[in-house]
Amino acid sequence: MPGHSLAQLRSSNLRAITALLGSGGPQSRADLARGSGLSRTTVSSLVTELLANGLVVETEDRGTPYKGGSGRPPLLVALAIRPGGVAGVDIGHGHVRAAVSDRSATILSEVETQTDEDPHGNATLDIAADLLRRAATAADVPVSDLLTVGLCVPGPIDRRSARVDHAVLPGWHELAPADELSRRVGVRVVVDNDANLGAMAEHQHGAGRGVADLLYVKLASGVGAGLVLGGRLHRGTVGLAGEVGHILARDGGDVCRCGSRGCLETEVSTRRLLELLRPVYGDDLDLPGLLQLDSDGETAVRRVLTDAGHTAGRVLAGVCTTLNPARVVVGGSLGSSPTLVAAIRESVDRYAHPEAAASCEVVSGKFGGRAELMGSVALAISRAAELA
Ligand SMILES: [Zn+2]
Repeated sequence: MPGHSLAQLRSSNLRAITALLGSGGPQSRADLARGSGLSRTTVSSLVTELLANGLVVETEDRGTPYKGGSGRPPLLVALAIRPGGVAGVDIGHGHVRAAVSDRSATILSEVETQTDEDPHGNATLDIAADLLRRAATAADVPVSDLLTVGLCVPGPIDRRSARVDHAVLPGWHELAPADELSRRVGVRVVVDNDANLGAMAEHQHGAGRGVADLLYVKLASGVGAGLVLGGRLHRGTVGLAGEVGHILARDGGDVCRCGSRGCLETEVSTRRLLELLRPVYGDDLDLPGLLQLDSDGETAVRRVLTDAGHTAGRVLAGVCTTLNPARVVVGGSLGSSPTLVAAIRESVDRYAHPEAAASCEVVSGKFGGRAELMGSVALAISRAAELA
């Protein structure tokens, strides 16, 4: 019956709109039309129905001005979720952070602790559960009132098993981190890797806002990328998309924790850069010190950062030619170095397809080393909204 199939089409279109809002965060009606391939008129009518049913809200946050537009930027549409907080937990190589936020991603509390480099998975998850309780107390939101927790781990998650790739994180062998943390705190937990969540944070709230095709690169103690393609995070068949830290950067280079040799990560990680600078600045040089020397214009530091940027940029040039992103957002603790970002730009210009290079901006991330935590919160909000 034609009436029946029309109703089916409408409900599948409604689901397409809520799915886009879940994966891409708050967007204008025009963005939704582009993302769904539906006409502006159809999208407007669908949004009106979703507004009437209380499934979406219009947000006060007006985002960035429209390119070339002269009028006021449009109101954004966001998924509505029931009252209550959400939380994000970011596990890195050497730190654990937790934040509790309200439903509009306003952070209510944030706590952090340093850990030994990659302690065992179970020990790290104990620390994470403890921090999460502390963040909830500080935000005055009982843990049991949290709708969802977004969890970031510093390695690829196998989408088939929801387990961590143990080659990259040995102490996590056979652990399913979301289930483990959920068991400890009694709240639903969703997990993703650091670069994907950094990409999500910068895409929804930061330097990649409004960009449909975005390459987010995390340069820190680990190196990885998150890909936003057509407005959605692209994770790949088993969750390995964006593992640029393990692309060959030097033949016969150092052995990498993934088991390969000469991976990009072995050439440009923070540990590598500090090692290179040790003969001049000694063992006490740490990352904040390195970044300070960079902004002071210290020659040796700038050389090391420039070389690292050129090396990373060569690998990224290949990715730019393959995916033709409109913007590369450089995040992680090294992403705030203008020297490094400028060198990446030079290499992308030198090695990418000329048109791919010309159509691509290279910028620093807005959130630096906090992007993963912000992304964990964004993931929790989108999941809480989908399940509302
Ligand atoms: Zn590797």
